[in-house]
Amino acid sequence: EQNMTSLIMIFGATGDLAKRKLFPSLYRLFSKNKLDKFAVIGVARRTLTNEEFQQSVRESVVSALGNKDNLDEFVSHFYYQSHDVADSSSYITLRKFADKIDDNYQLEGNRIFYLAMAPEFFGPIALHLKSDGLTDVKGYKRLVIEKPFGHDLESAKELNKQIRSAFLEKEVYRIDHYLGKEMVRNIEVIRFANAIFEPLWNNRYISNIQITSSETLGVEERGRYYETSGALRDMLQNHMMQMVALLAMEPPIKLTTDEIRSEKVRVFRALRMVEGDDVNNYFVRGQYGEGTIDEKQVPKYRDEIMVDKESNTETFVAGKIMIDNFRWAGVPFYIRTGKRMAAKSTKIVVQFKDIPMNLYYQTDKLLNPNLLVIHIQPEEGITLHLNAKKAGGHLDAQEVKLSFANTGVHAMNTPEGYEKLLYDCMRGDATNFTHWEEVAYSWAFVDKISEAWKNAKADFPNYEAGSMGPKEADELLEKDGRFWWPVT
Ligand code: NAD
Repeated sequence: EQNMTSLIMIFGATGDLAKRKLFPSLYRLFSKNKLDKFAVIGVARRTLTNEEFQQSVRESVVSALGNKDNLDEFVSHFYYQSHDVADSSSYITLRKFADKIDDNYQLEGNRIFYLAMAPEFFGPIALHLKSDGLTDVKGYKRLVIEKPFGHDLESAKELNKQIRSAFLEKEVYRIDHYLGKEMVRNIEVIRFANAIFEPLWNNRYISNIQITSSETLGVEERGRYYETSGALRDMLQNHMMQMVALLAMEPPIKLTTDEIRSEKVRVFRALRMVEGDDVNNYFVRGQYGEGTIDEKQVPKYRDEIMVDKESNTETFVAGKIMIDNFRWAGVPFYIRTGKRMAAKSTKIVVQFKDIPMNLYYQTDKLLNPNLLVIHIQPEEGITLHLNAKKAGGHLDAQEVKLSFANTGVHAMNTPEGYEKLLYDCMRGDATNFTHWEEVAYSWAFVDKISEAWKNAKADFPNYEAGSMGPKEADELLEKDGRFWWPVT
């Protein structure tokens, strides 16, 4: 039974995330008639009237989606409350206001609290929501929380304690926006709905799996935050590890939230932990130097605003992740992610093992292995690389590619990630949000790497902006007799 009636409170409603993602996503749900009764209270520090706030919501929808004719009605559901996150009296005012809106719109006491604010406020807000009575409702209450969830295991535990004193685990929706992406959600369907993949999905037939998530952008205005984070915490701990878990998990008994999450957790439990000097055998870090992207000269990371001139922060990480269980023993999951790289692209390449004996040769080289490529962004689709006879040739084989692009009729209006995640949260489906246990295991894994790196100064910058990262990332695969499949 789906109940899409809810009061949504957005903390940080004048921020970038709210404007670029949340308001347009809510509009999309509204225009598809997916919301029943709803109202939104935007909460932020500055003073605004409801009208000014509604105007900013209108502008954000228009700038994301163009002009729409039912915008007046949409924005009439939005209210604003100026708020000081540290002050109880602010929450008490907010509670009274929320109760009134709840009455006016008959929202059945259902509440979603969306924390789109700096992470240091997550814990204090959760505590206040409880102590000042905002969570005391007769309907459901859910907390949506943005990344980062802590910056190591200790801080994540502390944050979790604060949150859990106000919300049950099943009421907490930890956002990993990669889990809102169409093709990330497709991984499990490709795997578990196809007789031609699942039987081969193991160490007998798969040689290695490569996950690349590259950006061309640099750190932009986020230097202050990024200096405390780096690629390891910003990308690997959450998004990359989630993709690894989805690729590696056992088939769940049923497609329920609990079953899927517990299979993912089992993957995390099987991760080979690497620590100390051994880290350098498995992981490589990088930081971009100057270079050219799209024919424009760009500065090195250390020259970006709010960045230390001698910064030791990594803007690139590559690694070899081993999952020591029966299915995956011996199969590396190679990952790499970074800023200021040659292309904006997220792709997964599953490389199958070579057949026992090659009878066919291409004109000048050995047969290509079979590859299954999952394109996550910007293109969405899958490509299967096969070998077939070269037309007209004699015993020549050549590579052919079967492609499915997730565009055109099948994917008209593919909903945006945040739209799907908001919809899931309103429906009470937490499958595509991260469970505390996943967060904890993944931090435990990443902490060992950051500890090793913290104690040894890196030789930065070590890759040119506009490249695919430092040469050590290539060597990581070369020493295993492999190479990165090109993603551009
Ligand atoms: P932002 O700096 O643009 O917005 C912060 C918001 O918090 C503003 O509305 C501001 O008024 C409010 N705020 C700050 N201090 C306050 C206080 N003391 N009391 C009340 N309100 C206060 O930040 P953002 O980019 O929107 O990011 C918000 C969260 O979302 C962060 O956790 C970030 O990591 C996460 N996130 C953002 C993006 C993105 O695309 N911007 C993507 C993924 C995750």
